[in-house]
Amino acid sequence: MAQKTDVIVIGGGLAGLMAAVTAARAGRSTLLLERGEAFGGHAQTQDWKGFQLNLGGHALYKGPGYALLRELDLLPEGAEPKPRGRTLREGRLDLLPAGPLSMLATGLLGWREKGAFLSLMAGLPRVDLQEAAGLTCRQWLERHVSDPRLRQLLGALLRTNAYEGDLSRLRASTPLRRLLDSQKGVFYIHGGWARLVARLAGAAEAAGAVLKRGQAAAGLETLGGGHRVRMGSGETFEASEVILALPPAETLKLLPTPAAARLRAVLGDPRPVTVSCLDLCLSRLPDHSVNLGLGIDEPVFMVVQSEVARLAPEGAALVHLVRYHEGRPGEEPAAMRAHMEAFMDRLQPGWREVLLHARFLPSIQAASVLDEPGRQRPVSEDLGAPGLHLAGDWVGEVGWLADVSLVSGHRAGLAAAALAACA
Ligand SMILES: Cc1cc2nc3c(=O)[nH]c(=O)nc-3n(C[C@H](O)[C@H](O)[C@H](O)COP(=O)(O)OP(=O)(O)OC[C@H]3O[C@@H](n4cnc5c(N)ncnc54)[C@H](O)[C@@H]3O)c2cc1C
Repeated sequence: MAQKTDVIVIGGGLAGLMAAVTAARAGRSTLLLERGEAFGGHAQTQDWKGFQLNLGGHALYKGPGYALLRELDLLPEGAEPKPRGRTLREGRLDLLPAGPLSMLATGLLGWREKGAFLSLMAGLPRVDLQEAAGLTCRQWLERHVSDPRLRQLLGALLRTNAYEGDLSRLRASTPLRRLLDSQKGVFYIHGGWARLVARLAGAAEAAGAVLKRGQAAAGLETLGGGHRVRMGSGETFEASEVILALPPAETLKLLPTPAAARLRAVLGDPRPVTVSCLDLCLSRLPDHSVNLGLGIDEPVFMVVQSEVARLAPEGAALVHLVRYHEGRPGEEPAAMRAHMEAFMDRLQPGWREVLLHARFLPSIQAASVLDEPGRQRPVSEDLGAPGLHLAGDWVGEVGWLADVSLVSGHRAGLAAAALAACA
């Protein structure tokens, strides 16, 4: 006998958890099914002897996801960094121009370039994002930034904000919006993103939702007036509304054939955004004057979030390095790791002597679908299947990365709750 609820959410990452909180808070009986043994998906945090390792460096931008978490009273505690950054170009270290003083002092730019960079950054809020949505980053930079060194610097900032190295494919409006959000500030979560996951899961349960782990959905059938979810174990659950908060490939596998065909037509042939991550647990930070490193002519980034967020034992440091891919890993994992280590040698000489633990992720998916001009992100209505809803980092028009997951999860939760009330 199938168990019945108003809303079933499949997938317990940020999108699914946000959908479950929303539907349960709206008064609908809600069941969430997560395949893994832990909730959180890509937002999980692993503990290594008191170091809280997110899956690569994670920062919550003060964008739409942050605003939503605040509005719903779901924002965990955290801290905002004060960047003390360096840039690396042609092997030379310079101050990252992140404020008036570092701008005056940096040798990265000449005086004329500094003036041009300042006016470029001041003009960001007035950038025509509609025009930028139709251009790749490379096209936008060629059209709007004439100085080649400024173009290179801005390109490095866009790449870092989007987690994508291929500027000839990435839609310009995506990292430009994020760069604007980053000017409002970014937020590192104390204890790692697992705290955000726990906050969402706790809020969903407090509102009456039932959250189950170790439950892989294996099939989805449409019944008269509802849907049945079949688990790998053979168990079944029924609901009038089902939210699929899954990566695109999993979603396509579960959807009934006509809805899957419609979704495939909108998705086309998407390519994911992947990066390599090197996370370093150090007994101390060799040089406290540097907490951020930006490769200008190489696609690498370093950040020490433990300088402000509680992510490491007292006195110790947690450092994240990211190597952006350009559509493909391109190099052997060992070569990419050596590249990141060499970057670290320049920014934090002596780090090898204080290394306690290193975790290398050669290729991890940071976003399910690369945002490209001409590519439309799907919405639930594209399925043409009443009662089925989509959520995830590839759904809907708002934001990038976790912003998309949180906003699409919230929207799906609201829609499912409203429809379940009429069922
Ligand atoms: C290295 C790295 C760095 C990042 N940095 C940032 C950052 O700085 N800022 C930012 O905003 N975002 C960042 N992100 C992105 C952010 O982590 C993701 O956008 C977000 O966690 C995705 O959440 P989601 O719920 O959409 O998908 P997922 O996390 O993929 O969740 C999907 C869930 O569905 C479950 N599932 C799959 N199949 C089934 C099934 N058949 N049945 C049941 N459950 C199933 C999975 O186990 C998973 O838990 C980063 C990601 C990575 C990898």
